[in-house]
Formats: sequence, C-alpha cells, structure tokens
Amino acid sequence: IGKLYVVGTPIGNLNEMSPRAIDTLKEVDLIAAEDTRHTRKLLSYFSFSTALTSFHEHNQETKKVEIVEKILTGKSVAVVSDAGMPAISDPGEVLVEAALQAGITVIPVSGPNAALNALVASGIAAQPFTFIGFLPRQKKERKKELEKWASFPTTLVFYEAPHRVKQMLQDSLAILGNRKIAVARELTKKHEEWLRGTIEEVVVYVEQTDTLGEYCIVIEGAADEGFNQMDNWWEAMSIVQHVDH
Ligand code: SAM
Repeated sequence: IGKLYVVGTPIGNLNEMSPRAIDTLKEVDLIAAEDTRHTRKLLSYFSFSTALTSFHEHNQETKKVEIVEKILTGKSVAVVSDAGMPAISDPGEVLVEAALQAGITVIPVSGPNAALNALVASGIAAQPFTFIGFLPRQKKERKKELEKWASFPTTLVFYEAPHRVKQMLQDSLAILGNRKIAVARELTKKHEEWLRGTIEEVVVYVEQTDTLGEYCIVIEGAADEGFNQMDNWWEAMSIVQHVDH
C-alpha cells in the first residue's frame, strides 16, 4: 500500500519550492494536480516529469475514489494545487479524508502559504488567529459571514479576489468597525506590496488605486479592553510599503 503526500508549491517565487517537495514529486507514481498544465510547467522548470492526473473541485468526488484505489494497490500519490498548500482554499481536503478512511498514511510536505506569510509580517497578533479564506461572493451572504466573525477575539485572515477587494474592505469597515489591518499583495513576487493602517485608511487608499494581483487580508480581532488599542508606532507608519525583491 502506497502513501498520500500533500505537497506545498510556490505562491509566486519559484525559489520557494523546497528540495523535499521536488524529491517527493519526482519519486511518487502519480501527481494529482488542480491544473495539470500549470503543474507540468512547474515540473519542467525543475527539469523532471512525473505522471499527472487532474484533481479539482469539479471532479474530486469521483477522482478521490480512483486515487485511493491506486494507492491501495501500492502506488504513491502526491496532491498539489496551483499555488501554496493544498486544502487551504484549494482542493485536497476530500482526498485526505478519503485516504485516511481507507487506512492510508497521509504525509504533509511543507510549502509556502499566503495566509501564514501575510500573518507573520502583518504586525497584528499572530495568535490566536482564525483563517477564514474567501468570503461568499453574494453581498448578503458576505455580510452575514462577516457578522459571524465580528465579535471574535482572534486575528482574522482572509483571501480575496482583486476585483472584490474594495468591496470586501468596505464591508469589513461597516461590519467589523475600524480596526488595524494589513493587506498583503503579490507576496513573494516582483510587485509585493503591503498596506498597513486602520481599515478606514486602507479603504481610502484603495479607492484611489487599481487593485491588481493576489491579496491576503489580516484584520485584528474584536476589541477587547486594552488589547487592540492603536499603538503609536502603528499610527505613525506610512500606509503603503513596496517591497524590492
Ligand atoms: N492554497 C493557497 C495557499 O496555500 O495560500 C491558496 C489558494 S487560493 C485559491 C488563492 C488565494 O490565495 C488568492 O486569491 C489570494 O487571496 C491568496 N494568495 C495566493 N497567492 C498569493 C500571493 N502571492 N500574495 C497574496 N495572496 C495570495
């Protein structure tokens, strides 16, 4: 009986592909990839090729059964997504569950993750934190979801599509109130940029700019006496910081 490897891949900068991730993807019999063309490019950048099969949100229910059967016959399989860690706002979770149910050993192979990168350099409490990922697209559901987290005392971490960032920030201001926020754009990439300030300041800033690229948003937890007072250093900081890579 084979094993299932859950392998992290870069979120931008290809140098973040770990030697262990490369070895794992080289050695397995099959890679279950969110987009096989995307992963084929990654493999060819590192000069190797391994058999690929597609595994995404639209075929995962049937594919998980096939993949588990393969592993039970002795083949090892790695699951990857287009970027970062599988299962984190990406396919992977249902395969892990099916593998574990079948008695298969599941091994994570660490890699980059946008949420953790954003959290650790946000300047906002790194623990406790709650990873929320994408909010619902529909305005009403999005607001309802934000309301659910409004009184949560932990730091909140979100993903958002570029064309919805302005709306998401406006909704956050309306529902969560004015809090500390850090918006990380294009992490690890050439145009990496950070916005840090109050939600109000960041809303004003993004209203005057185009929102392009990939965004991860970190917002401090609900007011707790003495816990989330704006510190002087935070207030004095310039809102936007471009990172030279
Ligand atoms: N599995 C991935 C991970 O581990 O981070 C997340 C995949 S999810 C489909 C894609 C979202 O993650 C993007 O819309 C964005 O919110 C966030 N993201 C991915 N790469 C990013 C980057 N380089 N900078 C900022 N956010 C990023």
